[in-house]
Amino acid sequence: MAKFKLKKNDPVIVKSGRRADRKKTGKILRIVAEKNRVVVEKVHLVKEYVRPNPQKNIKGGIVEREGAIPINKVMYYCKECEKGVRVGYKGSGVNKQRVCRKCGVVLD
Ligand SMILES: [Zn+2]
Repeated sequence: MAKFKLKKNDPVIVKSGRRADRKKTGKILRIVAEKNRVVVEKVHLVKEYVRPNPQKNIKGGIVEREGAIPINKVMYYCKECEKGVRVGYKGSGVNKQRVCRKCGVVLD
């Protein structure tokens, strides 16, 4: 399985995809590794019909939730650079840290 440089809770920016989602930034909510996809907060919202379930106090109806998008459509959003950047590594073993390849800031 591919090892990703991105992790859950990383801030990312959407580089391509649906017009409405382009340049959106958000946190990674979930990584779907086997499909090379990520779920990003407030990005790629899809409507879903939910059945009412009174026992669980669910009203039912149309709800919006985040759909998964290909991981190669997002980039790490570096706060220092204020844009999407590539992630590099510094150190090794337990001291290995992720860094911004542009400004060198430690991301972890
Ligand atoms: Zn940076």
